[in-house]
Parts: sequence; C-alpha cells; structure tokens
Amino acid sequence: MNNLTLNKISIYNPYFCSNGQTNFNAQETSKFWLREQSQQTKTDTIETTKTAEQPNQIVSEKPLFNNFEADTATNAAGTAVFLRLAQRGIEWLSEICAGILMRGKEFASEADVKKVANAMKSEKGLQADIHYIDHSNKDFLKRMFPGLAKSLDTVASGGNAFYTHQGNFAVAPKSKPSLILHELGHATNFEKSKFFRGLQKLRVLGMYAPMVIAFLNDFSGKRKDGKQSFIEKYAGMIGFSAFLPTIIEEGAASWRGIQAAKKTLPNVKLGALKRNYFFAWMTYVLAGVGVGLASKLAITEVKQPKEKRTNNDSQQ
Ligand SMILES: [Zn+2]
Repeated sequence: MNNLTLNKISIYNPYFCSNGQTNFNAQETSKFWLREQSQQTKTDTIETTKTAEQPNQIVSEKPLFNNFEADTATNAAGTAVFLRLAQRGIEWLSEICAGILMRGKEFASEADVKKVANAMKSEKGLQADIHYIDHSNKDFLKRMFPGLAKSLDTVASGGNAFYTHQGNFAVAPKSKPSLILHELGHATNFEKSKFFRGLQKLRVLGMYAPMVIAFLNDFSGKRKDGKQSFIEKYAGMIGFSAFLPTIIEEGAASWRGIQAAKKTLPNVKLGALKRNYFFAWMTYVLAGVGVGLASKLAITEVKQPKEKRTNNDSQQ
C-alpha cells in the first residue's frame, strides 16, 4: 500500500516577466513534479471485508479491480491524454504569439521611445532605473545582480524584458526598446498602486496552483457518496483563477505604457505597439489556461498498470 506515483506537470511560461521572480522565456517550460495521492486514497480498491459503511477503508494489501473500476481507469487515462494534448496545443499557440511579438516592428524611433520612458519615470516619480542593454553593455548589470545574469543575457539577446522591484530597475533590449514601456507599467503598478502591487505579488499563486490543488484534493480525501468533490469538479477553473491576478496586472502594465506613449507622442501611430503588447498579453492568457489544465491534470486519477483480478477472485 501507499504506492506513491509521480505525475509530471508542465506549465507553459509566458513571454514577458516582471518582478524578477522568474525570468520567463517562450521556449522554456517549467516542470512541476507532483507527488500524487497515495494508493490508499487514490484508487477505488475494494477489499474482501469491506462493509457498506466503510466503502474506502482498506484492510487488504492487494488491490482488487472489478469491471466498473477498469472503466474508471480507462476514462481517467483518456482524460489525462486529452489534457496533455490540450497543453501541447496551448504551448503551440503561445509560441506563435511569442513569434509574432519577436518579429513585431518598433512603433517609434529609439529616441522617441526613450522620450516616453523618461516621461513615465519623471511624471510618475518612479524610483526604478531604466536600462537598455545588448551584449556590449550588459556586464555591469550582471556584476551588480549576479542572480539575474541568465535573465540579463536573454534580454541582451533581444529575447525578453523585465522589471524587478528588488533590483529596482526595468530593462529592455536595445534592439526592442519599446518593451521598456510595459516594464515601466509594472514599475508604476508596484510603486504607485497598492491594488496592482498586490496583484503583482500574487504571481506566485499561479505558479504553485496545481501543486496546492493536488495537495488540497489529497487532503480532503474522497467523498463517500462517490460524487466529485468541489476541487475535483472545478480544478481547472480554480487553477485559471489563480493566474488571473497576473493576467490583469500584465494588461494594466501594457495599458500604462500605451497611455504614456499616446500622451508623449500624440502624432505617432500606436498600432504596432498595441499589436505587440496584445500578443505578449495573449501568452499570459494562454499560460493561465495552461495552469488550469495542469491543475486538472494534477488531480486526474490514472491507475498504474497492475495485475487485474476478477470479482470471483475477490470472493475467495
Ligand atoms: Zn509584464
């Protein structure tokens, strides 16, 4: 008994990042290894001395299966396969969005973008420093923040931008300076709004949601009437909801950047900026759906292949 199984859950990472908590890259996935429920609560094992009042209590060491349980196992495996395929689909869509973003044009000249960024900083009174880096000038930041070295390399290559309130700076690639306006939106959210700072701090919720949901589901045990528990029923929605603060805060950061550009450069068309930011935001929406799928997967029961026994066996 207590045969523990491990289930690998992938959560797709969005493109942008803020806060320096994690540096997301569109090509990477993070792996969460979830300790699944023990055999005792996980499987619908039946033992010979079971009574009607104690349907799930196990006395026997040998799990026995009847036809109904075999069907349940088949359905669970089918659900797991479907969820994993859906995850792949989400990753694929997210890569498409990230690709569009990477190929997206700059909406204004470098000088104009810097003008907007400086206006955002001075008008809002932001403390955060602004950096634009490539491989020729990244080293001073890497020396100051060795923990962010890898993230800074990615930015220098043009593959990301981020804001960190611990390091108190926003950084964008020299090749794509317009990303800085979104990052300064994060800085504004953190420094100037209690509400959005709260949402920014809730990023962690989405990252651990599948594990927490699996743990809570484990902890609450099976319902005696055999029906789905609240967590089992709504795991996907709960997982997505846990990521919602991030989706909202990301949208707000972009909105602040676009508003600042509109104000500082009234004669410049913002179509390219809005388009880039929309596809960046879509990677977060898709990541939220990914967390929902991972949460559902985390509680999906998949029995390990075992020696099958018949009902007749169980009567012996
Ligand atoms: Zn962001």
